[in-house]
Amino acid sequence: MAKRDYYEVLGIDKNANQTEIKKAYRKLAMKFHPDKNPENKVAEESFKEASEAYEVLSDPTKKQKYDQYGHAGLEGAFGGHGFTWENFTHASDFSDIFGGGGLGSIFEGLFGSGFGGGGRSRRPNNRGEDLQISLSLTLEEISKGISKKIKINIHDTCEECKGSGSQDGSVETCGQCQGSGQVRQTTRSLFGQMQTIVECPSCHGQGKIIKNRCPKCRGTGRNKKAKTISIKIPHGVAEGQYIRLRGQGNIGKRGGEHGDILVHIQEKEHNIFERRNADLICEFPISFSQAALGSEIKVPTLSGKVKMKIPAGTQSGKIFRLRSQGLPHVNSSYHGDLFIKVRVITPTKLNSDEKGLLNKLSIYDSEKKLNPDKSFFSKLKEFFI
Ligand SMILES: [Zn+2]
Ligand SMILES: [Zn+2]
Repeated sequence: MAKRDYYEVLGIDKNANQTEIKKAYRKLAMKFHPDKNPENKVAEESFKEASEAYEVLSDPTKKQKYDQYGHAGLEGAFGGHGFTWENFTHASDFSDIFGGGGLGSIFEGLFGSGFGGGGRSRRPNNRGEDLQISLSLTLEEISKGISKKIKINIHDTCEECKGSGSQDGSVETCGQCQGSGQVRQTTRSLFGQMQTIVECPSCHGQGKIIKNRCPKCRGTGRNKKAKTISIKIPHGVAEGQYIRLRGQGNIGKRGGEHGDILVHIQEKEHNIFERRNADLICEFPISFSQAALGSEIKVPTLSGKVKMKIPAGTQSGKIFRLRSQGLPHVNSSYHGDLFIKVRVITPTKLNSDEKGLLNKLSIYDSEKKLNPDKSFFSKLKEFFI
């Protein structure tokens, strides 16, 4: 199969700047992340393809070579076998996606020995399970960042047996595998007898057998209990992102390692603001006289009301920008902007005074005043001829 164009992979224009390239990659990395696509080979490949494209396009030298000569310009740039995850140098730039532990931490176990061309041992099979929770946040909470305490049911060490799974502490070496946890299995196939190494069925790979199982945990060494965990959410997070709490998930059986907790961020809909990345948009009603004469209005922001001037002759739909009144970016003190879109409200219930005044005003109505864009009326006339 022909190698896809890097710009096409990231879904961007050839003239895209570094911010756009980074944004496009972030979106794909989140979409194809192995946590969201467990054991999905297609997603894994797409993730790798996007990462390769980003590795090239984010590097000015590589990008220039690619722009000039295409894929041929990068022959040998990643060693003889092309791009592998070991060539990816940006995991720390996306630590919210890749986790604090960098690349290995998301691929280990999930991608098995495929990561980095092999050599990594598989995750021990008694590591505890990862847990997923969702956290729904308001824009106000996202704006400031927040610490939350959450009650969650997790598997933790059985106090009765201190996690050993044994009632009296006595553990025997498994007779079937002699403690190795693995046994050879012989199967017949078209090609003759085949030997494979599989997990020992007697001890489930533990190498040990418990004689008297702890009754409280039935030999597993762990029990389910309610635990309160503290989660610190940095400011500026967005729907779809998640935070990994390492080692806070289920403990493994019989003293195995803890899994992680993945906190998925959800965003509550706001009744005033609409979010676009770090910017906020708010539609704000003003009266006809405010629009025509100009006025000072008080508009909402996430941190209270602020004054804003509307110039005379403001049209409905006009957008005003309030700098740095949007949301902060993650890991940065830089804020987005707030856009106020004014909407001129036509009055519906008029008293006789108001009617009188508007009637007087209507004397001055003319095509020119109503629409300064003359061409519109000339087009309209042409239409009716
Ligand atoms: Zn126990
Ligand atoms: Zn065994």
